Amino acid sequence: MPLLTLLLVEDSEPDATRVLRALTDVGHQVEATRVDTAEALVAELSRGRWDVAIADYTLKTMSGERALAIVREHAGDLPFIFVSGTGGEDVAVEAMRIGAQDYIMKDSLDRLAPAIERELREAEARRERRRHSERVAYLAYHDELTDLPNRTLLNDRLHQGILAAKRDGRPLSLMALDLDGFKEINDSLGHHAGDRVLQLVAARLRTALRESDTVARLGGDEFAVLLLGTDAAGAELAATKILQELEAPMLVEGRPLFVSASVGIAVFPEHGSGEHELLQKADISMYVAKNDRSGFSVYAADRDGRAEQRLALVSAMWYGLEREQFSLDYQPIVDLRTDKISALEALIRWNHPVHGRLPPDQFIQIAEHSGLVTQLTTFAINRALSEWPCGSHGLMVAVNLSPRSLHDGTFPGRVRELIATERLEPSCLALEITENVIMSDPERAVRHLRELHEMGVKLVMDDFGTGYSSLAYLRRLPVSQLKIDRSFIAGLTDGEDEALVRSIIDLAHNLKLEVVAEGVDSAAVCERLRMLGCDMAQGHFISAPGPAAEIVTRVMERAGSRPEAV
Ligand code: C2E
Ligand code: CA
Ligand code: CA
Repeated sequence: MPLLTLLLVEDSEPDATRVLRALTDVGHQVEATRVDTAEALVAELSRGRWDVAIADYTLKTMSGERALAIVREHAGDLPFIFVSGTGGEDVAVEAMRIGAQDYIMKDSLDRLAPAIERELREAEARRERRRHSERVAYLAYHDELTDLPNRTLLNDRLHQGILAAKRDGRPLSLMALDLDGFKEINDSLGHHAGDRVLQLVAARLRTALRESDTVARLGGDEFAVLLLGTDAAGAELAATKILQELEAPMLVEGRPLFVSASVGIAVFPEHGSGEHELLQKADISMYVAKNDRSGFSVYAADRDGRAEQRLALVSAMWYGLEREQFSLDYQPIVDLRTDKISALEALIRWNHPVHGRLPPDQFIQIAEHSGLVTQLTTFAINRALSEWPCGSHGLMVAVNLSPRSLHDGTFPGRVRELIATERLEPSCLALEITENVIMSDPERAVRHLRELHEMGVKLVMDDFGTGYSSLAYLRRLPVSQLKIDRSFIAGLTDGEDEALVRSIIDLAHNLKLEVVAEGVDSAAVCERLRMLGCDMAQGHFISAPGPAAEIVTRVMERAGSRPEAV
């Protein structure tokens, strides 16, 4: 048995001996210290850690209540047991009421050892619970993998930092750091190695910077650094130090890896006066650094050329999101077996104040590169679920996912939350993924897809036929529908792509997948698909995409009307 450290509040030496013997007789090893005054008790409590305190209820020098009060004040919830020669049940009840763990009569000291053992177990359980809740509280503000502050804590420090900088008239710099080629490391060595790299990068960033600088991990391979009281020149110096620190190879799973990074710098007050703006500008300059392969770059509003145009577009999108310039159009998908509409696909639109209504082809890719696409995806799911057109007709709504979404570990949880917020069933939602979603980090993507599938969200493989994946590969994925890319459907009229489409349909059916054809823009194509056994169709012939209200009307009209065109 482990050594028991016992603090004994007792003024009678013989009684103390008896208490100790009650414990040593049953095999406990005890290290006891006896005190009999309040001063001595306080002194011992502050001297060290104790397993248990045992006190005589009726001391000459102080009352049992006083001894208990002192223990509670100086040692929190240290197990405390009264031992007494007098008093009956009522005294025992009173002792427990004021917070003792137990009350034991001197003529039944055999109860003492079991009582102590029980209290030790409970004290351990309390410690465990406390450790757990401390950990939970810690993780609300820290990243589990690297132990660095997370986005929440960074935002908080940045907010405080800006307030202080305004007050003192001092500058402040914010750095956005993104690793170069991290995806390749993840892909080729697995994300176990990727995780290790992130931890090593975190450690090197800490080494390169001062204690007072905040190094945060924002997610994935994105980090941010907050430098208080530092202007652009100081931040450039810090960036140089960081890049130097990263130069030495990292030993990961026995092999040396070379990891580099791109750093973007934004300075308060020159480049922005709010957290959001600074983060965004740091992000933009990081993107510039990555493009130029220059290591780091300080935000410059007057940069010219294509990069600048893209950056301007990214900023405009950012603001557009905040100002609700985005909306969704919906396109019906018809079940060719029943001629009923079975789902709507949500397609994002940007109602740009200057350029008008922009289709996704003009901005999704840039959003993808800048990382802003995560917000667009969240917006689309959120909007699709909150306006859920035709929900009353039981129609599912399908949202397109960007490859980035599935690399983000928090994505499945966020989807769950968005669904719960609207009090909907997960089966209302379908997510359309493309093959490249899976190509870039298969293991992680598949894990997240499984999570979504288990939740009850339907998964659709979009644009099928344009990527490299085979149908056999699809077997590993929890998708239930396959959408043949519109480029193959367009050629169906002249029989050109027919053999290919036919074999996709047959093989998909063998894999128990439903097949949807997109880009169906004529009656002839629609008829052909029906003959080939295609399950569903979507396209201009059935209905062009339109705003929710318009589509709802069409769906209602169709509910009681002729087949084919809506
Ligand atoms: P997609 O997922 O393949 O979507 C189908 C596209 O085909 C839509 O273009 C739709 O308007 C168009 N289409 C529909 N019927 C026909 C037809 O009969 N003929 C032809 N030629 N085209 C037809 P849209 O709306 O411009 O979307 C383009 C792409 O943008 C989508 O392709 C999708 O990959 C992406 N996208 C759209 N919304 C989102 C979104 O919210 N998030 C993400 N990440 N991507 C989106
Ligand atoms: Ca789609
Ligand atoms: Ca598609």
